[in-house]
Amino acid sequence: MRKKIVAGNWKMNMDYNEGLSLFSEVVNMVKDEITGTQTAVICSPFIHLHSLAQLAKGYDKVAIGAQNAHQAESGAYTGEISAKMVKSTGAEFVILGHSERRQYFGETNELLAAKTDTALKNGLKPIFCIGETLDERETEVHFDVIKKQLVEGVFHLSAEQFAQVVLAYEPVWAIGTGKTATAAQAQEVHAFIRNEIANQYNQQVADDTTILYGGSCNPKNAQELFEQGDIDGGLIGGASLKSRDFLDIVKVFN
Ligand code: PEP
Repeated sequence: MRKKIVAGNWKMNMDYNEGLSLFSEVVNMVKDEITGTQTAVICSPFIHLHSLAQLAKGYDKVAIGAQNAHQAESGAYTGEISAKMVKSTGAEFVILGHSERRQYFGETNELLAAKTDTALKNGLKPIFCIGETLDERETEVHFDVIKKQLVEGVFHLSAEQFAQVVLAYEPVWAIGTGKTATAAQAQEVHAFIRNEIANQYNQQVADDTTILYGGSCNPKNAQELFEQGDIDGGLIGGASLKSRDFLDIVKVFN
């Protein structure tokens, strides 16, 4: 059975104390309100990771993730953070390939394949993001784009390695715009992704892969999205900065 996950991406928000108090609210609510087997993952800025991981100890429904990690094991890369460093904080996940990293930091599929390898080698589970731009959807090349992102980013992995990866379908036109993909549009792409995984590996691997939807997901639209057969949760940006909204999205699976 694949896991249901709702992951919050705080992006470059929350100073140290703000992050700690937001996380404390989330943990308290998770403790009292989550009855199912879903996991809430908070992907914070690096500065919070160790403290949040300490606070999350003892709560098996809460995990911590980073938003990036470097592809090299270590070395002269001033200002960068390695996967080993992230792992040493107690974080379990790392977002890779977010469209903001692709767009503003020039991260290519090739680079992301290397980051994925290094993350896995260091025991981190990648939340690997894929998705098309508005132009790519309007010109109807979105399935080709997504397939290329999968092939070049993660399909070099063995089935055993791939089992550690969570995928997130995030149409770029829906991120932070308030425009959500309809449940039918999202389901169509999620089913396509699962089918590609089955073709690359096998049906069992495809059935076991958690595929999240991301893009202006909120407490109002989460239910309809998460009811779709191939949508296993969400990657939540804006709404993860409000503990109540985030928890209401996690609770869709209760
Ligand atoms: C994201 O950053 O991954 C995201 C989905 O953002 P938002 O929910 O704000 O659209």
